[in-house]
Amino acid sequence: MTLIVALDRVSPGEAEQLVADLCDVVEGFKVGLPFVLSAGVRLVEKLRGACPSRLWIADYKLADIGYIMRLVAEEAASWADAVIAHSFIGVDGGLGELAEHLAREGKKLILVVSMSHPGSRDVYDRATPYIAAVVERLRPWGLVAPATRPEMIALYRRKAPWAKILAPGVGAQGAEPGEALCAGADYEIIGRQVTGAPEPRAAALLARRRQEERLRLCRAQS
Ligand code: C5P
Repeated sequence: MTLIVALDRVSPGEAEQLVADLCDVVEGFKVGLPFVLSAGVRLVEKLRGACPSRLWIADYKLADIGYIMRLVAEEAASWADAVIAHSFIGVDGGLGELAEHLAREGKKLILVVSMSHPGSRDVYDRATPYIAAVVERLRPWGLVAPATRPEMIALYRRKAPWAKILAPGVGAQGAEPGEALCAGADYEIIGRQVTGAPEPRAAALLARRRQEERLRLCRAQS
């Protein structure tokens, strides 16, 4: 499956309903700070317990010294299979320590390499050669690159053929389902377009259908 749903601004009750409705139609759930800070870790553990077969991602977008990132990762260990960190931190004394810790624990490291908002061009995207060097050195399980800028996905697809690419920015931020997959992403992350829909399961199934249609089209054209 190629769809990951972001749980950001949902109430605890909505989240329980969303996970029940979506468990069999998504690859996983990405849980961000707004939700964990408002609902608490115990609820996230409960949600995971209700849908244990899926990929649960702690989207804390870590950006600190290695010691602190490791402590945060330990706090998410009870429910998260994967942890997202910023790549600009660098390896020595930073991501290296986090990567070693996650590998020891059998968890996945996912690095942000570019972002979906326009400001990403000001810093992140100007630093692409340095970011790519961090990626090459650490060889993380996954990368986050924006669906709103397929050229960044294509670039990192070429630079890191082994990595899973997760692409947010579909729906509320303007990218169409399937666009990022066509550019080389493995998964598309959708938040508000699914979690804010009157019928989230129907919205997720529609997004999946549209992903498949677009993929068929772009494969036929290539
Ligand atoms: O609601 P929407 O689909 O815009 O949610 C996008 C999700 O992806 C949010 O959880 C946001 O934090 C995340 N994200 C992003 N751009 C990135 C990395 C993560 O939008 N580069």
